[in-house]
Amino acid sequence: MDKNQLLAALRPVGRPTVSVEFFPPKDEKAAVQMLATAQTLRPLGIDFASITYGAGGTSRTTTLSYGKALIELGFPLIGHLTCVGHSQAELAAMIAQYDAAGFTGILALRGDPPKGQTTFTPHPEGFRYAEELVRLIQRERPGRFAVGVAGFPERHPESPNDQTDVQFLAQKVAAGADFVTTQLFLDNEDYFRLVDHARAAGVTVPIIPGIMPVLSLKQAKSFCGFCRARIPAALEQALVACGTDEEAQRRVGVAWAVQQVHGLLARGVPGYHVYILNRAESAVELFRTLQS
Ligand SMILES: Cc1cc2nc3c(=O)[nH]c(=O)nc-3n(C[C@H](O)[C@H](O)[C@H](O)COP(=O)(O)OP(=O)(O)OC[C@H]3O[C@@H](n4cnc5c(N)ncnc54)[C@H](O)[C@@H]3O)c2cc1C
Repeated sequence: MDKNQLLAALRPVGRPTVSVEFFPPKDEKAAVQMLATAQTLRPLGIDFASITYGAGGTSRTTTLSYGKALIELGFPLIGHLTCVGHSQAELAAMIAQYDAAGFTGILALRGDPPKGQTTFTPHPEGFRYAEELVRLIQRERPGRFAVGVAGFPERHPESPNDQTDVQFLAQKVAAGADFVTTQLFLDNEDYFRLVDHARAAGVTVPIIPGIMPVLSLKQAKSFCGFCRARIPAALEQALVACGTDEEAQRRVGVAWAVQQVHGLLARGVPGYHVYILNRAESAVELFRTLQS
């Protein structure tokens, strides 16, 4: 699948377009798990994969190396790239490496402040906003990549209100983005509100919903706390009702994600992106249930 095929698949066409997100593993054991997950998922009709880019220098070279491994396994790949700690020249070098490695697209992000810092400080020769990175990608490799940006159904934690949040989203799309992938959300209404606001602000590109099958109440609270996503009361109650049974909680998480995807597809969403957390079990159950 090349860039144009990937972008065409993000428009409403017959069956939904499905993508999954990996993160670069931290050690050998985690690498074995990630690659096994990728091999398990490959035959399940996944259209493309993405791989995250670590803040604070933790997993930068591994994004490239594990990105290449995912391409070798047959996944068209979107590599994430952030502005954190990088000069413009370093970002341009990274874009060249993604090109040489055969990445199909780039998700252009500002990134979060590194551990221990509370506010984002741009590199003195770098960028303050993702929008500038979008421009750099399009300048360095015009039309080469499918370029994506992040969208926030419950608005970005630093945004003072929905209006400015969507205004800046529209600006970064206008800078040259082909699609938006959203932060995880657990109530579809938050996604549809973002889409309505974005369309009203002139954003016409696909807005791909990001779905995370929750693994447990503890994990949901940790992830949702970090990105300030709301856990709906009904989901929290169902997880609490499982007590300490983690397997039961995981199954509740899959069922909730299945119901979310059904709701999204019923309202014409062309596809969905799954935060699989490098684990196969919930993702396999989700895809099998949705395909049955
Ligand atoms: C799908 C997805 C994937 C992600 N992958 C990664 C990853 O791989 N690695 C990683 O470190 N992080 C990742 N993140 C997290 C992301 O880096 C953070 O959410 C970060 O805080 C914001 O990044 P952004 O690209 O949205 O920033 P921006 O679009 O630059 O926005 C940052 C803030 O600035 C505001 N803003 C934007 N433009 C302007 C402007 N011109 N003037 C004033 N204010 C403005 C925005 O409203 C927002 O509040 C991901 C997030 C999502 C949703």
